[in-house]
Order: sequence, then structure tokens, then C-alpha cells
Amino acid sequence: MTEIKRVYTFGNKTAEGNASMRNLLGGKGANLAEMNLIGVPVPPGFTITTDVCTEYNKLGRDKVVELLKNEVEKAISFVENNMNAKFGSKGESFPLLLSVRSGARVSMPGMMDTVLNLGLNDDTVKIIAEKSGNPKFAYDSYRRFIQMYGGVVMGVEAKGKTHDPFEEVLDEIKDAKGYKSDNELTLEELKQVVEKFKVVVSKNAGKNFPTDPWEQLWGAVCAVFDSWNTERAILYRRMEQIPGEWGTAVNVQAMVYGNMGDNSATGVAFSRDASTGENIFNGEYLINAQGEDVVAGVRTPQEITIEGSKRWAKRAGISEDERLNKYPSLEESMPLVYKELFEVQAKLEKHYSDMQDLEFTVQDGKLWMLQTRNGKRTGAAMVRMAIEMLEDGMIDEKTAILRCDPNKLDELLHPVFSKEGIESAKILSKGLPASPGAATGKIVFSADKAEEIVNNDKEQKVILVRRETSPEDLKGMYAAQGILTERGGMTSHAAVVARGMGKCCVSSAAGIRVSHDTLEIDGKSYKEGDWISLNGSTGEVYEGQVPTIIPSLAGNFGKIMELADKYTHMYVRTNADTPHDAKVAHDFGAKGIGLCRTEHMFFEGDRIIAVREMILAEDEAGRREALKKLLPIQRGDFEGIFEAMDGYGVTVRLLDPPLHEFTPNDEKSQVEMAKEMNVSIEEVKSKVEALHEINPMLGHRGCRLGNTYPEITEMQARAIIEAACNLKAKGLDPKPEIMIPLVGTVKELEMQEKIVRDIAEKVFEEKNIKVDYLVGTMIEIPRAALTANEIAKHAEFFSFGTNDLTQMTFGYSRDDAGKFLPIYLEKGLLKNDPFQVLDQTGVGQLVEMAVKKGKETRPDIKLGICGEHGGEPSSVEFCHRVGLAYVSCSPFRVPIARLAAAQANLR
Ligand code: ADP
Ligand code: MG
Ligand code: MG
Repeated sequence: MTEIKRVYTFGNKTAEGNASMRNLLGGKGANLAEMNLIGVPVPPGFTITTDVCTEYNKLGRDKVVELLKNEVEKAISFVENNMNAKFGSKGESFPLLLSVRSGARVSMPGMMDTVLNLGLNDDTVKIIAEKSGNPKFAYDSYRRFIQMYGGVVMGVEAKGKTHDPFEEVLDEIKDAKGYKSDNELTLEELKQVVEKFKVVVSKNAGKNFPTDPWEQLWGAVCAVFDSWNTERAILYRRMEQIPGEWGTAVNVQAMVYGNMGDNSATGVAFSRDASTGENIFNGEYLINAQGEDVVAGVRTPQEITIEGSKRWAKRAGISEDERLNKYPSLEESMPLVYKELFEVQAKLEKHYSDMQDLEFTVQDGKLWMLQTRNGKRTGAAMVRMAIEMLEDGMIDEKTAILRCDPNKLDELLHPVFSKEGIESAKILSKGLPASPGAATGKIVFSADKAEEIVNNDKEQKVILVRRETSPEDLKGMYAAQGILTERGGMTSHAAVVARGMGKCCVSSAAGIRVSHDTLEIDGKSYKEGDWISLNGSTGEVYEGQVPTIIPSLAGNFGKIMELADKYTHMYVRTNADTPHDAKVAHDFGAKGIGLCRTEHMFFEGDRIIAVREMILAEDEAGRREALKKLLPIQRGDFEGIFEAMDGYGVTVRLLDPPLHEFTPNDEKSQVEMAKEMNVSIEEVKSKVEALHEINPMLGHRGCRLGNTYPEITEMQARAIIEAACNLKAKGLDPKPEIMIPLVGTVKELEMQEKIVRDIAEKVFEEKNIKVDYLVGTMIEIPRAALTANEIAKHAEFFSFGTNDLTQMTFGYSRDDAGKFLPIYLEKGLLKNDPFQVLDQTGVGQLVEMAVKKGKETRPDIKLGICGEHGGEPSSVEFCHRVGLAYVSCSPFRVPIARLAAAQANLR
């Protein structure tokens, strides 16, 4: 039997591992090895594999220590030889100190924090003090070690409401002496701190701090393995769907010291700007510091480059003199080190062909690299880097596409505050980031007012401020730049509608009160006409007018989109109900409309009156009378939409919601309605009562309306076909697709299809012109999926209405799921909200089945999806896999879906 190799060493430009061994060595370990191989200076060390973590969980601590002992001892000798130092030195040579670092395949919060300076005890600290000639450094390292090891290995740290007991000791001394930073502690004070820290450990951990370096080492190694199964780590894995079998590696590495004095430093750097994507080296460092001091905020970090330093000083209002004296860049304070660091970052970026996020330490003028990885970035940076690297020949087209995260494109589609504007802006409140983008405008408190102001003067900018919004506010929301509400969550009416419109919205803002004419924040009142600004991406509310800039869809963004289209198989449509939305989506690259919800047009202006007349009608004749009034209005809408999507298919869904949605519930509006309709209030009330249903989502809606009141279908079919004929007569190329909603049996569809086709023939005759059109159905009732072969006999297309399909497959009412879904997600009963991420295991089976059965009957059946899922990347990938021709989503998600569709095809 061949021995399993459990330990991989690296150091002095050699390594047993490399970058491709990420699964075995973890991301950090694989890259430490790789950096050695390409000649980057890295302190020597070794990686214990992720497989050992799995063994540890099976066999337990003692057995695994035994299995590792031999290899680890050899690896330590390797490091000792490389560093010319001795682990647990008795004075014969410089003591070797180690860092012990966790490192899974993917970077994972919740894992053990790094322990630095391991190997120190009362003896080795003295030897280091003497041999380095720098006792302050020795005791500074020792106190750091006790605190880190005591915290992460022995569990002595802040718990619940108690403070970190080590920090309390430090604060006590610092307060007494009036020190601002740890750096000011004298040697004597550091020695006192060490003694006090040891007492803190024995008191809190119930045992003494371990003095034997080997005991310390095994303690830290096993603590890394243990951290794989902490609650935090398990929770994170569940959220990110990381398998528990992966395990973490352990990296043990010789220490290099950034805290040796003023010729030493530690820092982080990026090979390009992670927020803008600009190809400019940047980062921060601290002189005479160690580990995470830079990010911990104990001292003000300094910029690495002169340029970055000057930009920083300008923003912070610091004079050039003060900057140079107090906060010089690394380029100025250590020019040689800087030069080497610059070369290393260029080399690493080229080697990995991606932006690198680096950690480094300078020990007495010598540069050491401690980590490199592909850096996280904003949406804008992501796109810019992908295109610039492609144009530089660093990566190919496919890589450029695959490197962009579709969801992050969202950041690029909405206005943002200008940099200068936001710097001086005052934050008033913070709410939920309900719909992304930035907006500024004058406060208005009613939808009507918003509409009125903007109708009078298109240049006016208003922000609609409401306690909450309702469907009647639609037009005002349209007119406004953004919406601020006192109440409501991420799925409130305001939030959902705003996202659909691509309009910025902040909901549930903290500490605000909205009345009919006043917005109160922290005791201060704001009236109509006062300026406020909203950031719907962060939820922040600002006082006054903060200038916004509209992002450009040309440039790099346009290039990525073009590439996506080149490599995609599916195309993308949009869900749009108005000519305006259709145009927006068209500009975002939508090729057609996958769902046009006719009833969304019913609320606008006085249409609702005609709709209500129809609802109030006693009989068919009365309904027909009212429908006559609606016909020209609907026809006009369809003309607008077909025109905006000229040459592309437009799927129009016939009336779907239960009729009660068009009647008011409250007394006051009912009185108004009675007046408007010239009927008695009793009549209105009795109609509202008659329409009441126990379970309206499963009630009289969808094609059940069209099959009980065929005249509704007739009117809608006529409006659609007439609109198409009119446009065709003008030389345009409309492509209507009439969709029958909520079909469960083939008979339901058959009856509706006949009505539509009869009307179409009539219209063609009347107008003496013909257009091609399709009749199809939504697959949204499980029975329709199960009998898709029959249904396809009468459907030229299927559009998967995965919102209702999810609702009915899970049996979760979409309108009531808010009560339990969040809890289900929290408890891990569900991985995702199935209304956001398509449930491929359950609902997906129905989709697949319907695709298969539909094609059996009608091989050329047109297939698409129009549920909210059509803009969600993992669901888009699923649609590609099951062979849909297109996905359809809200206008502002069109670019996301285009990119996701291309990626699905490339993967
Ligand atoms: P994380 O995964 O949280 O980034 P790391 O293992 O990278 O943790 O360690 C955090 C920091 O500890 C590093 O950025 C570095 O400053 C310091 N560090 C780690 N190893 C060493 C070492 N061998 N010598 C000096 N400092 C180290
Ligand atoms: Mg960390
Ligand atoms: Mg790190």
C-alpha cells in the first residue's frame, strides 16, 4: 500500500504543490505553493491537506496527530533549514516562530482566524529579544501571540455582552498613560501586558497557557480542523451550498515580522482598482505593524503609491506637507521595496490573468508575499477589467464572459450619485434597499401630485414619499424619480413595482414618519417641495439635492453584451405592459415580449371606469356595452407595444386576475365609485360582496373568466388583431402571440382558441388584411404540465408561468408566504425562496415534463418562460438545459439574463 501524502512543503522557490491543487491544498495553500514556483518571495512553510480534515472528523484528534507527526516534523526541519532558525530553540539559534492559517477551497468566513508568532514562551522570547537586539519587538510579538492563541484556540474572547478580556487589559494601561495606539507601549509595559495576559488565560480558560511550542502547534492545527464544524461555518456552507466533505487545509508558515521597527511594515494591495476597475496598482500599509492591523482600524493606514496617497490626502483635506511627514506612501518611505512589490504584482496578475488581491509584509527592508488571490470587485470594475484584459490579449472572449457575475450587472443599470456630491451629503435615515439606483427630487406626498407636477413640466424631479403605496399610485410612481415609504418590506407593493420599473425605492426607513403633508425625520419636518435624495442600492436617505449620473450602456458594458449575444443560444424577451416599458427593455436588448399583462393597463386614467362598468353589468348585453368602450383603449396600447417591439414576437396574456381586484374595498372609494358610475352605493356594495371569494387565487380567474364571459376574450382578441392589422397596413411587422392563462384542461384552451380564431378571421375580412399570429398557453397549473401532450394539440406555444406553477406545486400562497418563508429559510427548511430561484428538483420536473410532452405532439412548439425566474441566473441556466428558446424577465433584468444565457451555453 502506498503511503498517503498529507503534508506539502513550499519554500525557497520550490514547492510540492501548485495552483491547480486547490481542492487538496485549499485556495491559500495552492497559491502559496504557486508563488514559490514562479519565484516570488514567500516565507517557507507547509500545507496539511483538506483530506486530513476529513480524516480528523472521522478518526478524531489523537489518531490524526499520530498520522501526521512524522511528516510534520520533517516539514518543520525543512522550514528550520530554510530560515536558519530552530523551532523551540534553547538558544543555539534564532527561534523559529510560525503562523497557522486555515484555508478552504473557497474563502470562507467562519473559519479559524490566523494565529501568529506561535512558538513563543518565556524562554524563546528572551532569546529573540537578545538575538534581534530588539526586545520591544520580541515582547510585542509575545503579547500578540497570547491574545490570538488565547482567543482562537482556547476560546478566551468577547462573548455575548462581555468585552474581550485581553482588550480590557490593554485599554486599562493605554487609558492610564493616555496612549492612542498599541505602538506607544514601552518595553516594560509590554512585559506587564504579557504577564497579565497569562493570568487572563488561566482565569478564563481554566488552564495555563501552553509553553511547549509543539503543544502549541498541535493545538492550533487541531483548532483549524475544529473550526470547520463550528455553527458559523456550517451555516455559511449551507447558505453557499458548500459541501461539508470538502474540509479545510491548514497552512503552517515561518513568521516574517512587520513589527520589527520602522524599516518593517505590513499591508494589502490590489493589482487594479477593485471599485472602478481602473488599471492602477493600489493598496494600504502600516509601518511597524503585524497581521490584520491594517484592516483592524487601530491606526490610519497609508497608501502604497504616491498617486493614491495624494488622492487620499486631497479627499481627507490633509496638506501635502502633513501627508509627506505623517502619511508618506510606501513608494516614498521604502522606494526599493515598493519597486519590488510593483514588479511582483504585475507578475502575479499576468500569471493568473486576473486582478490580484495581495497580502505582504516587509521585514527589515525585505519584501515577503503572504497571499494572493483573485480579487473581489464591483460590477463596474468587473466589466471594465474583463474588457480591458480581453483587449490586452490577457484573456479570451469566453473567459471575459464567464468572469462576469450576471447579478452584478444590476449595479450598472441604474443612476448613481456623483462622487463629489455624495462626499458632502448628509444621511438622514437608512431603510431597506428595496429597488436599486440613486434618485434626487422634491418631496411630494401623493401620487396625483407627482403626476401633476411632472405632467406640467417634464424637467421637474420629484420623490414620492408615502406611508406605503398601492396599485392606485402607479402613475405617480412612474412620474417620480424615486419612492420612499415608511412601511413595507422588500416585497411590499412599492418595492416590487419599483423594481419592475427600474425605479429607485427605499422602504421601511428607520425613524421616519409620513403624514399627508409632512415627512418627519428625527424631529425635523420636511414639506412638499423640499429636496431629498435616495440610494435604493444601500437604503440611505440624504438631505437635499445630491447630483446623480446616469451610467452609460455603451462602452465596456455594451461590449460585454455584444459578446454575450455572440455566444448565447437562448434569447431574452421582457415582461412589459406598456409601450414605455417595452422601449426601455428594447434598449436593454430584449428581443420581444414574453408577457404583456393586459390588466395592468386597466388602472390608468378613466379606463378603470369602463372596467368597472363591465363588472357591474347585469348581463351579457351590459358587459358588451362596457367592453365596447375598452376596445379602442386596448387597441391603442397594443399598437404602441407592437410598434416598440416591431419585428419581434409579443405575447399578450388575456385577462387573468379575479374581477374583485378592480373594485375598491373601502367605503370611501366605494362611494366615489357609485358616484362616478351613477349607481347607488348599495349596488356597488352588493357587487363587491358577490365578487368576494374565499380563495381568489384558485377562484374565478384566468381562462375561467374568458370561458364564462366569452365576450371579454372576444374584445381582447379583437383589440390585439386589429392593432396588428393597423400596424401592418402602415408597413410594420407585428407578431402577436395570444396567450390563454391558467389552463388546466385541454378543453378550456380549445374553447378559448376557437373564440380567438373566429374573431381573427372576422377582423381579417373586415380589414382585408392578414397578419400571422399564434395562439398558445401559459403552463402554470400542474395539471397542464402533466397533460402537456394534449394541450399542445391546441397550443402553438407554451410559456412557463413559474410564479403560479411554483405557488401551486408547493401549495404556498404567494401572498401569504411572507409569514413563513423567511423562517423556513432561516431554519434551513428551504435553501432558497422558490419564488426567486426556480426549484429545479420539484417545479423543474414539471417544466421538463411539459417540454418533453409538448414536443411529442408538436415538435416545433415555441417554448419560453415568463415567471420572475426568467431573470435569475441559476434558473436561466436551467431553462437553457431543458431546451427553452427564450427567457423573459422585467426590463431591468434583461442584460442580466442575456449574460446568464450566454454563460449557460458556454458552461
Ligand atoms: P485571512 O484568511 O483572514 O486573510 P491569513 O491567513 O491570510 O488570514 O492571515 C491574516 C494575516 O496574518 C495576513 O494578512 C498577514 O498579515 C498575517 N500573516 C499570516 N501569515 C504570516 C506570516 N507567515 N508572517 C507574517 N504575517 C503573517
Ligand atoms: Mg481573517
Ligand atoms: Mg489573508
